[in-house]
Amino acid sequence: MAEHRADILVIGAGIAGMTAAIYAARAGKSVAVLECEGFGGQIASSPQVENYPGIASISGADLSDALYRQASDLGVEFHFARASGVQPQPDGSFVVPGDAGNFACRSVILAAGAHHRGLDLPREQQLTGRGIGYCAVCDGAFYRGKTTAVVGGGSAALQSAEYLAGICEKVILIHRRDTFRGEAALVARVTALPNVELMLNSVVTEYLGDPKLTGLAVENKNTGARIEVAVDGVFLAVGQVPGNGPFAPPLQLDEAGYIQAGEDCKTNVPGLFAAGDCRAKTVRQLTTAAADGTVAAVAACAWADAHPAN
Ligand SMILES: Cc1cc2nc3c(=O)[nH]c(=O)nc-3n(C[C@H](O)[C@H](O)[C@H](O)COP(=O)(O)OP(=O)(O)OC[C@H]3O[C@@H](n4cnc5c(N)ncnc54)[C@H](O)[C@@H]3O)c2cc1C
Repeated sequence: MAEHRADILVIGAGIAGMTAAIYAARAGKSVAVLECEGFGGQIASSPQVENYPGIASISGADLSDALYRQASDLGVEFHFARASGVQPQPDGSFVVPGDAGNFACRSVILAAGAHHRGLDLPREQQLTGRGIGYCAVCDGAFYRGKTTAVVGGGSAALQSAEYLAGICEKVILIHRRDTFRGEAALVARVTALPNVELMLNSVVTEYLGDPKLTGLAVENKNTGARIEVAVDGVFLAVGQVPGNGPFAPPLQLDEAGYIQAGEDCKTNVPGLFAAGDCRAKTVRQLTTAAADGTVAAVAACAWADAHPAN
């Protein structure tokens, strides 16, 4: 027996999910969004977004707040809850169980995004929150005037390093390759900062310190040399992993765990659509997440119209 009902249920309140909610609500549908961690998803932890069309610069938190307000004003219902599966019903509708009860809906948009990848080194979990972090904006202030490291070579790592450079005495940017994958403008800015030290062709092999992180063992991939660097904190920005496990089956995932759905956001389950970073795709950005949210919402509304509630 379902405790809650909506025409369209969106799982995940990141950019994809909130965009989908806005489109579905504007199409006249009742919309509920389930979010288990924080409204805004990944981008909420970004200090500065400079590539969203029409907005020269905005913090990820402000962008998230604006989307949340826009959706709420349209009547979208947000629930702080984790969806634990999706159950297709014989009449084309769905039941989504979760820790806030069961939601009955006519169509589901799965926009569960992705979460931070770790380095898979011993004691990583034990030291998380004790020197190991993933969000420079959230936790950078703990390291004011201290030395931190950032691991990674993409835009997220560069943004974190730039943000921390404004707070910390020194930031060591550790990257396993000799060039960065991030945007050229960002690379130029970060590499010019006087208190950012680059350690290229280098990988972290060990976390040092107990019960708090005090340093890192770093190996140079070219020479094999191992050095120990003293740091007060390290921020990992080495990519994302999807969290689609609870939804497969019925959803089909690829080898990396992403939902097999094309640009039309259609999954192998009719009436269930996938939007944003949780979907198999080549470019994971705000614009592509918003585009997916739009496509999925239009398709979900059409499905709901074709499968009216009994
Ligand atoms: C630090 C950082 C900086 C970035 N900077 C930029 C940038 O400048 N420009 C750019 O274009 N992109 C940037 N990105 C990438 C961009 O943030 C993502 O591509 C985009 O936010 C993906 O949105 P999404 O809605 O698909 O997923 P997410 O943002 O991952 O949102 C998914 C949401 O679903 C929720 N969720 C997951 N499972 C469940 C469940 N079972 N039940 C309920 N809720 C669930 C999660 O808690 C999360 O809030 C950055 C990413 C990071 C990490």
